[in-house]
Amino acid sequence: MSLTVTKLKQLTVVEDSAEALGSTYKGRKCGTFGDYGILSFNGNKIITTSGGGAMVVPSKEKKEKTVFLAIQARDNAPHYQHSEVGYNYRMSNISAGIGRGQMQVLDEHISLRREMHQFYSKLFNQIPGVTLLSEPNSDFYSNHWLSAILIDPKKSGGITREDLRLAFEEENIESRPLWKPMHLQPLYQEYPFYGTGVCERLFENGLCLPSGSNLTDSDRSRIEEVVDKLFK
Ligand SMILES: *Cc1c(COP(=O)(O)O)cnc(C)c1O
Repeated sequence: MSLTVTKLKQLTVVEDSAEALGSTYKGRKCGTFGDYGILSFNGNKIITTSGGGAMVVPSKEKKEKTVFLAIQARDNAPHYQHSEVGYNYRMSNISAGIGRGQMQVLDEHISLRREMHQFYSKLFNQIPGVTLLSEPNSDFYSNHWLSAILIDPKKSGGITREDLRLAFEEENIESRPLWKPMHLQPLYQEYPFYGTGVCERLFENGLCLPSGSNLTDSDRSRIEEVVDKLFK
């Protein structure tokens, strides 16, 4: 089965920009690269409405259609009437109100998350085998919503990401492996998979670090102590 370029051209690209609000590539905001973009305001994201998100749409016309489908596709009639299948995807007024307030702290949250990333950059700078995932060059500006590292045990003197995760856990500090690839999920084990092992390696060696906007100096000291003790 092969997809020709002509067929690909008919696809609508929905950009998953769930984590990326405030990040840019060559000055252009993430969420504006696809035909449509989606942003998540889930509780763990850079700003939150407790749940839900937003769509970035290419025109006023597309916006109207999107909202129409999200509010049950009601025809313009005094009674409830539907000529199309719709969805109950609208955000409640209460959540939207929280979101408007959250927009005012977006820049502050980005700078706090970027400071956390700087902290990890200094912390892991001299430690062999540990790579902090960072902006590849100045074209990229990341909100650093989440700081994550890769640990190569061949270069770290045998220390694995699981060693670090458990050392954190011992001190009641939460960290988490990178996302388990879809094809390794029990749900999909019956299905064919095409790939070269990159995602398996990231899952094996990757660790998401405490990255919240509300971490204090004393939290950072505790993190630093665990890392120093394990690697030195
Ligand atoms: C959080 C996240 C989602 C899901 O967003 P929800 O608002 O929780 O549905 C999807 N994709 C990525 C990359 C995410 O980080």
